[in-house]
Amino acid sequence: MKLTPWRPLRPLFLSLAVCLALAAPRPALAAPRLDVFVSIGPQKYIVEHIGAGLVEVTALVADGQNPHTFEPTPKQIARLSRARIYFGVGVDFERVWLPKIASANPSLLIAHMEEGIEKLAMSADHHEGEEDHHEGEKGETEASKRLVKDHEEGLKDPHIWLSPPLCIQMAENASRALKAALPGESARLDAALAAFSARMNALDQRIREMLSPLKQRKFMVFHPSWGYFAQRYNLIQIPIEVEGKEPGSRSLARMINAARSQQIRVIFVQKGFSDRSAQVVAQAIGGRVVALDPLAEDYAANLERTARAFVEAKSE
Ligand code: ZN
Repeated sequence: MKLTPWRPLRPLFLSLAVCLALAAPRPALAAPRLDVFVSIGPQKYIVEHIGAGLVEVTALVADGQNPHTFEPTPKQIARLSRARIYFGVGVDFERVWLPKIASANPSLLIAHMEEGIEKLAMSADHHEGEEDHHEGEKGETEASKRLVKDHEEGLKDPHIWLSPPLCIQMAENASRALKAALPGESARLDAALAAFSARMNALDQRIREMLSPLKQRKFMVFHPSWGYFAQRYNLIQIPIEVEGKEPGSRSLARMINAARSQQIRVIFVQKGFSDRSAQVVAQAIGGRVVALDPLAEDYAANLERTARAFVEAKSE
């Protein structure tokens, strides 16, 4: 009898089959993870922690990209067509893209992690650039009123995740959506949420202890990402950016005076945004520019690093 070419390989197939049989009784490996998307890195951190190992989380906005101007790539849109849940957080690009993402994948569940969170106005300084920017808004036509209204919607501060108590609220919202998608896993998801909340409360306490002795409560930053952080820890954010743009020369001169009179030594910036005006101010006051990252995926460690940067900036 003639041997078929595959026969000598048979023992290998058998041992493979044995291995697979031995591996099989571990059901945790058998269940595929729920494929979910988030907008930004800190949400990924939250959903991974509360997902109890049951989710595979992808963030759309990559490290160093600007979520105010971001647009997803066609490849990301294709991947989204296979996802189960999209967790929004209310950053700018979602207004345009969430409806498109939803229509490309009608079975996608869209959850809003920002639900129920009262948003701050986008930083108190916007009046500072008044003579540079607001002149056109005094007209009383319907079109200009509508423009002002849209504009004000856009001025709500989206950076809610930078306060640990708000992170807990975001986590609770996300957990509800996960439980709806994984009804058999309620106990596991509840335990993960409780552990996450405890972790956020401990982080909040550590940051409070680091920042409470500071005498100087004011800090200057190019893009005002830190409004909720400032509110939580009793700091005052002074932004250089005016409505998403570089300041005009008058605003810039005012910033330099403010930095001098407030004895500010450090101007904070972030990746994905210009640091040109921050450099101008820093140079004028003989200070320096320090980068913070409000979008880092290692959320807790990053927030502590941020608090340390504030402490160091004040001791210069
Ligand atoms: Zn921002």
